[in-house]
Amino acid sequence: MNRENLWKNYTEDEKKRIFEFSEEYKAYLDSAKTEREFVTVTEEELKKNGFVNINEKTELKTGDKVYFNNRDKNLIAVIVGKDIKSGINMIVSHIDSPRLDLKPNPIKEEEEFALLNTHYYGGIKKYQWAATPLALHGVVFLADGKKVTLSIGEKDTDPVFSVPDILPHLSYKVQDDRNTREVIKGEELKLLFGNMPVNDENVKKQTKQLVLNKLKEEYGIEEDDFITAELEVVPAGKLRDVGIDQSMIGGYGQDDRICAYTSLRALYEVENPEKTVMVYLTDKEEIGSEGSTSLKTTLPELIVGKLLSMTEKNYNDQILRETLWNSKALSSDVTAAMNPVFKSVHDPENVARLSYGLAFAKYTGSRGKVSANDADAEFIQEIRQIFNKNDIKYQFGGFGKVDEGGGGTVAKFLAYYGIRTIDAGPALLSMHSLFEISSKADLYETYRAYKVFFEI
Ligand code: MN
Ligand code: MN
Repeated sequence: MNRENLWKNYTEDEKKRIFEFSEEYKAYLDSAKTEREFVTVTEEELKKNGFVNINEKTELKTGDKVYFNNRDKNLIAVIVGKDIKSGINMIVSHIDSPRLDLKPNPIKEEEEFALLNTHYYGGIKKYQWAATPLALHGVVFLADGKKVTLSIGEKDTDPVFSVPDILPHLSYKVQDDRNTREVIKGEELKLLFGNMPVNDENVKKQTKQLVLNKLKEEYGIEEDDFITAELEVVPAGKLRDVGIDQSMIGGYGQDDRICAYTSLRALYEVENPEKTVMVYLTDKEEIGSEGSTSLKTTLPELIVGKLLSMTEKNYNDQILRETLWNSKALSSDVTAAMNPVFKSVHDPENVARLSYGLAFAKYTGSRGKVSANDADAEFIQEIRQIFNKNDIKYQFGGFGKVDEGGGGTVAKFLAYYGIRTIDAGPALLSMHSLFEISSKADLYETYRAYKVFFEI
């Protein structure tokens, strides 16, 4: 396999373009650290790029640009092609990321600290979330139904929150012999929220009372309102360049917003496509695609049925099924990059490498390909032809060695509809950590590749 590090062959102009693109990417992700925020920011961006909410339309014609917002957690953007029935070229990524969610009754007091109780969301190494600055994002519905949107911990003047760890001097007996998954246990993921009691003899939990007073004064939030809230704890701070050569980007939520971002950028440059093209941003991938905003719903049928019913005079169920069966998808998600420190988990001939371009995975599953979509050779060759013709830089590599572990993507849920699907996305180091690492070269090549995919 004649592949090499892409930085070797870029011109100075190309490097400049890649670095500029990276700045735009970092700023976008800094402004969208949860699935809801990503939808809010992207809906505005879609409008700027000529997309209209599909609910404002009564009919559709070739070239129309529309989007569909599902419950503020999914966005599906479409440019209508010449004949929808011939199939849709879709790029599907997820905009949820591993994090800590607040429990429905989150506030407790211990030793004059107000603490926030959490339940982690998705696959995390719990110890990574201790002793680091954290921010609180999300929505709270008040008793009168008013919606309050929160983002605390991102501005320089904001406070942050933190899960306390034990000092090494005293961790010998309590922590040092725990296995990695239990260094910090689930119930120990509690955030410091306050340490200033009210001075009132009649109040039993004085520190808790003070934080409740503050929440009421500043946001109108009462303790009961947390039951109608979705508050997510994410790492505080921005994405940063990594390396003295600034070749890499580090930060939270790149799985999988790097794919969401690049697919949107590619979409904005498509004009009058032959095929109908679609960017599909889904939610709840990190917890197995359950729930009405995940991909394991009939939302794909709902959307495609809506498109067809607005363009076809004689719309029926069979046309919907055939359209889906004729469609092609990139299950656009990140994969694991060769790790220079932990090389042993990878098969060196079948691993994606940072700065080698978009990484395809024929299958993403575990132990005997279980749960994998396992893309067919016919579909792969079709992509190979067009990518080679357009000088797209890509590589093939899976997660790790056979039986080393495994993961899953949404590919199989797309394949359920008969949609030809393959996993494709940039490789990351430290995936699912608070500081995931991508390559600026891969970021840019992913965007280029997605543009070409829309033309198939
Ligand atoms: Mn992912
Ligand atoms: Mn993931």
